[in-house]
Formats: sequence, C-alpha cells, structure tokens
Amino acid sequence: MQAFNPWPLGQQIVYREVWREKIWTARPVTVVRDTPEWVALYQCAGTPWALPIGSGEPFLQCLQTGRWQLQEVALDYDGLILARPGEAHAVHVMWDRARAFTGWYVNLQEPLRRTALGFDFMDQALDLVVQPDLTWAWKDEDELQQAVALGLFSAQQAQAIRAEGERVVERLRARQSPFSDGWEHWRPPAAWPAPSWPAGWATL
Ligand code: MG
Repeated sequence: MQAFNPWPLGQQIVYREVWREKIWTARPVTVVRDTPEWVALYQCAGTPWALPIGSGEPFLQCLQTGRWQLQEVALDYDGLILARPGEAHAVHVMWDRARAFTGWYVNLQEPLRRTALGFDFMDQALDLVVQPDLTWAWKDEDELQQAVALGLFSAQQAQAIRAEGERVVERLRARQSPFSDGWEHWRPPAAWPAPSWPAGWATL
C-alpha cells in the first residue's frame, strides 16, 4: 500500500478535471485539510481558472470529440471544496461575494486521485443544490441523460452516479457530516494569498 502523504495546510496545489487523458478544467487551490477522512480545499475569487473552449459545440459534444482548448479566466467566486477520499462526490460550501453562506453544492464526480501537483478527477454531470436549511434539488438530470445518449457514460454508470447522489441526500436528511460539521462558518485566514499556478500544471 502507498504511504499516505498528505498536503500541508496552506499548500497551493492544482485541482484538475481530466477527461480521457486531457485536461478539461484546472484551478489552483489552497489546502485547508488533508486527512484520510476529509480533503478540504479553498478556492479564492480572482484565482486563475482554465476552462475549455470548444469550436462552438456544446460542452458534452466537446467531450465526445476531444476537441477543445483551455482558456484562462479569473474565478469569480470563493468557496470551500470538501471531499471524502474514495467517494464519488464533493460538497462545495458556497458563499456570496461578502462571504455570507448561501448553501451547499454537491458535485457528483470521480473520487479524487492524488497527483504530484494536487488532485485530478472528472465531473459526472449530475449535481445537487442544497439550501442552508438543507432542502435540496437535483440539478442537470437532463445533462446526465444526454451524456448517456452520447456514450460518455454507460447507463450503469449513470445509475451509480445517481445512487451516490441519493447517499448524499440520506446524509443531509440525517444531518450528518459534512452538513453538521460547521464548515459553513469556516473562513480563510486573511494572510492567505490567492493561489497561482504551480509549475507544470498543464502537463498530465
Ligand atoms: Mg457537476
């Protein structure tokens, strides 16, 4: 077994979505926690963010064809990303521009893979939007269906993605972690600079 080699608090690393050996998105983030139980990452407004631009095709088509390039913009919102190692989702703590808590966003995605520069994973279309009072709704169910129709995911994978979402719903109904941990009160230390790209971030 590989030794657990956590990132230290405050380390700037790169958080990348990778589809079929090609970077789909990337952003540098700052490590808040890295334990076998939780990975917590802070994304700061103003941070550089590499996003795909296709040749005018919808995003799902770009994934199908593999035709896209990255374009850099500035991240326009602050947030905290919480992921349990090995589980196929991340819970984002959402704030407004004044850093008031506005709710949670459950991003169904591959379990994080540790890399030399941070973490890699890929988004899985379906999401859950969770209000501060823990009422919730699915988001982008149609996108997941389209992804299956395009052959990006199998029907079986889509079922597993939805089942993962349902497990998260059970946790939030039961007021379990991370919805009961007080993360919505966490704020970044004022001294933390907006992260920049680590050298080599664009190479897999
Ligand atoms: Mg998503």
